[in-house]
Amino acid sequence: MSTEPEKLRNLMRSIFMTHRDEIGCDTCFDQMDLFAELTLAGKDVASAMPHVYRHLQMCKACREEFEALLSALKLL
Ligand SMILES: [Zn+2]
Repeated sequence: MSTEPEKLRNLMRSIFMTHRDEIGCDTCFDQMDLFAELTLAGKDVASAMPHVYRHLQMCKACREEFEALLSALKLL
């Protein structure tokens, strides 16, 4: 079981990376459907998907994409 601490360290590192580093537009776009669904469901998306939430606040292109998606979903 000597590999476990290393696995844990890698896991911790990836978690911290996710929190610290900004996600790219690709990742944001991949998760946008889910983010929009949660938004429409009235969930706390800022807590549930903070990296997407932050990206949408910073990235105008993705925000416009997201708003278009949200409008489309509302029409369904
Ligand atoms: Zn973006």
